[in-house]
Amino acid sequence: MHKTTKNLAILGSTGSIGTQTLEVLEALENKELFNVVSMSCGNNIELFIEQVKKFNPEKVCISNPAKEKELKSIFPKLEIFSGDDGLIELASDKSLDIMLTGTSGYVGLKPTIKALENGVDIALANKETLVMAGDIVTETAKRHNAKILPVDSEHSAILQSSAGRFDTLNKIIITASGGPFLNKTKDEIFHATGADALKHPRWNMGKKITIDSATLMNKGLEVIEAHHLFNLPYEKIEVVIHPESLVHSAVEFKDGSIVAQIGLPSMHIPIQYALCYPNRETGIKSNSFNFIGQKLTFDKPDFEKFPCLKMAYEAGKAGGTMPVVLNAANEVCVYKFLNGKIGIKELIKTVEYELEHHNLIKNPTLEEIFETDKEIRAKLQ
Ligand code: MN
Repeated sequence: MHKTTKNLAILGSTGSIGTQTLEVLEALENKELFNVVSMSCGNNIELFIEQVKKFNPEKVCISNPAKEKELKSIFPKLEIFSGDDGLIELASDKSLDIMLTGTSGYVGLKPTIKALENGVDIALANKETLVMAGDIVTETAKRHNAKILPVDSEHSAILQSSAGRFDTLNKIIITASGGPFLNKTKDEIFHATGADALKHPRWNMGKKITIDSATLMNKGLEVIEAHHLFNLPYEKIEVVIHPESLVHSAVEFKDGSIVAQIGLPSMHIPIQYALCYPNRETGIKSNSFNFIGQKLTFDKPDFEKFPCLKMAYEAGKAGGTMPVVLNAANEVCVYKFLNGKIGIKELIKTVEYELEHHNLIKNPTLEEIFETDKEIRAKLQ
């Protein structure tokens, strides 16, 4: 008999992607589609307790082991794990069909690989996984016949537009809103403050990703992800500035035909598509885009004003540990910038310097990847 209910693990259920994933599950008309087997959370224990009551998982993982007792007293039958090892425990569950990785940072990487090794599909909302270890992750997925289904709006648009037929693609076109600095001069950008950078015109997101959107580093990281997800060389990945953020990305097939995905900005739709792929289920429905009276504009990105995008292409092309350096140096600098310690100019110069002075490891092991990441962070802290 064909199995219709998928066993689902949700890593990072109290975060922005996690909470929206639960909203998707609640909205699905067919309640038999998913069974939430396990969930994990960071520090928002109050919200997590609500979620566990509602979704009734068998196992959970919390980052802080001190909270285990509190949870146990409320849910005596619940299996409770904690810390990074706990996440690996959840990810090693052979009963899983799909795991949503909504944790931020590198903590999602090891559990993702673990799940892929069991042939579990991944709904991926974590950038670091493919930026840091794209070759290892995609290789593992291939070997175990597991799918990596992107939750990011651009990559979801490419998956939707291509319907999964990556072999038929000539190139992909990733759109970028351009962020709050789009119409600023290079000088204004380089001297901008955290408050300037946090005014994103289209999307409401966390602080780190909002800064990355202002420098276009976010787009650069997405280019690296796209290279791994869709198995395309960097020459075939084009970034186009599209301030309206209505075309979420597009694909050009080998016959020259282009298909784009259009919709009002929403994270629910990419989440729902990743979970239900290749089906489209009745659940959350995006507000309809109205063609009448719309003006869609497209422009090429300015690499002079946004050197982060250029650095990301170069780090991606160099491969190996270079994207690890890019990601780690950028992340440390973004938090320094948010704390008012450095400006955008210094952020760019620092990342540039680290890339130029890095001794590239061409085919790194997972240990070498973590080692490189640690080294850069320790150095720049
Ligand atoms: Mn995105």
